[in-house]
Amino acid sequence: MATDCLFCRIASAEIPAERLAENAHCIAFRDINPQAPTHFLVIPREHVASLNQVDSAQLAGELLLMAAAVAKAEGMAESGYRVVLNTNADGGQTVYHLHAHVLGGRAMHWPPG
Ligand code: AMP
Ligand code: ZN
Repeated sequence: MATDCLFCRIASAEIPAERLAENAHCIAFRDINPQAPTHFLVIPREHVASLNQVDSAQLAGELLLMAAAVAKAEGMAESGYRVVLNTNADGGQTVYHLHAHVLGGRAMHWPPG
């Protein structure tokens, strides 16, 4: 755990979050500043700074499987949703602990800004 990392502190429950799901690998919780009617994040329990540092197909898979499972539980499987991994500066990443954004409940625009 990186003690100065916001999402490590959420993973350890030192900082509260509205958790939607968790397992041995990942945690899903609502984004504090939602950009859509439903907006949650999925993070690995272990500290991984960004997609650039992912070296485990299992971890990548667990992250995506939880994104889809919670999207389904939130009622978005049929209507649709978007999964985003902002990576480094040009990607718009502000928290350097890997996270998948899952957004839905409205139609998304393309291309993204
Ligand atoms: P990014 O800009 O892709 O790194 O995304 C970071 C996300 O974390 C943003 O959507 C923030 O709203 C969200 N966020 C920041 N602090 C918290 C928090 N304490 N609980 C839940 N989400 C948070
Ligand atoms: Zn971290």
